[in-house]
Amino acid sequence: MSRIVIRGGLVVTAAEEVHADVLVEGGRVAALASHDSDPARGWTASADRVIDAAGKYVIPGGVDAHTHMELPFGGTFASDTFETGTRAAAWGGTTTIVDFAVQSVGESLRAGLDSWHAKADAQCAIDYGFHMILSDVNEDTLKEMDILVEEGVTSFKLFMAYPGVFYSDDGRILRAMQRGADNGGLIMMHAENGIAIDVLVEQALAAGRTDPRYHGEVRHELLEAEATHRAIRLAQVAGSPLYVVHVSARQAVEQITLARDEGLNVFGETCPQYLFLSTDNLAEPDFEGAKYVCSTPLRPREHQAALWRGLRTNDLQVVSTDHCPFCFVGQKELGRGDFSKIPNGLPGVENRMDLLHQAVVDGHISRRRWIEIACATPARMFGLYPRKGTIAPGADADIVVYDPDAEQVVSAATHHMNVDYSAYEGKRITGRVETVLSRGEPVIDGREYVGRAGHGQYTPRGTCQYLV
Ligand SMILES: [Zn+2]
Repeated sequence: MSRIVIRGGLVVTAAEEVHADVLVEGGRVAALASHDSDPARGWTASADRVIDAAGKYVIPGGVDAHTHMELPFGGTFASDTFETGTRAAAWGGTTTIVDFAVQSVGESLRAGLDSWHAKADAQCAIDYGFHMILSDVNEDTLKEMDILVEEGVTSFKLFMAYPGVFYSDDGRILRAMQRGADNGGLIMMHAENGIAIDVLVEQALAAGRTDPRYHGEVRHELLEAEATHRAIRLAQVAGSPLYVVHVSARQAVEQITLARDEGLNVFGETCPQYLFLSTDNLAEPDFEGAKYVCSTPLRPREHQAALWRGLRTNDLQVVSTDHCPFCFVGQKELGRGDFSKIPNGLPGVENRMDLLHQAVVDGHISRRRWIEIACATPARMFGLYPRKGTIAPGADADIVVYDPDAEQVVSAATHHMNVDYSAYEGKRITGRVETVLSRGEPVIDGREYVGRAGHGQYTPRGTCQYLV
């Protein structure tokens, strides 16, 4: 059984910051002890390997609860496979992803889940779990939900957007929520009024407004707020908890805040793109705005303050990426002359931990809150805690040695995601991942990739551990 000691760093978890040495044995955290205490000296003497973390942070590996590797969308596929996407995640300090298996209309949940297992099996560099996208709520699929919860697929995403593809009407949503209330499954909602949005899309295109920036205008912020409100009240009627994915509008945050003040189990996730990018990017000339087309869309810059405030006050609890990359050449270009044909999604799985560290540097959030929203709470929300999301005896040794002083410039030329542009090209960031362990095995070692496809294991999940 290999023994690793991570020595001399500042261990930062959601709960505390301590100068401690960490002993890793058999892929798990065995113990923490004060640096230079007698026990810690003993570990160092007998360890197979000592990782020097002096001047560095020692943090739990990131948990990205929202990724879409190889997602079929708009006649193409997200450009990261499970192999390339999880490798890039590791480079960015993320050691667990929860990806979305997709049920197509007319198909069973089982068939959808099986095909996502086939895509991911033996491909991943880090551990992974699955949520299930429920596109066809009927008697059979409602029953299948119970079985999936038992098997560790404990969360189900529904869409109020994308009519004719993923869309569920209010009646179907209510039925799925009722089932979730019974079986412990957490309902995740893409909250945008897709029926109304489609009318605005049609009108915009008919009027010749075809550039990427109109994607943001037709997906109106009030149509996000309205759907968020409706999802909250449907969940309240069903007696189920609700997790709203990729919140971007200030008015949607207000709805979540209101619901939480009423004591409801309503949770909100936002993503780095809504915190750092805006409609200014969508309006970039020469079709460059297509790089920033995602749904919910980027909002005017003023919305960012409400998102940061929500993250500080815990009205928003999680930052995930919604990583869903499409290359500019050949994929985003499908929408030249018609913004509605631009594949929706942004790359980001590699950038999340760094961007949120920059938010610490910039004073938006505290260091412990960084770990809470990026590691601990997503693990709790999706039934992975304390195996994932913290550094404590018994936890998986998913550990990042993070250099808080390193300077880097984000660029497609140096990132590891399989996509031909970066949404943050040229952005200067203070802080960088140095070494990453996944269950005690090095994946990134002193800025060198030493992992392998197939190290990452499928990780069944418990039910939500975050309920009020
Ligand atoms: Zn998504």
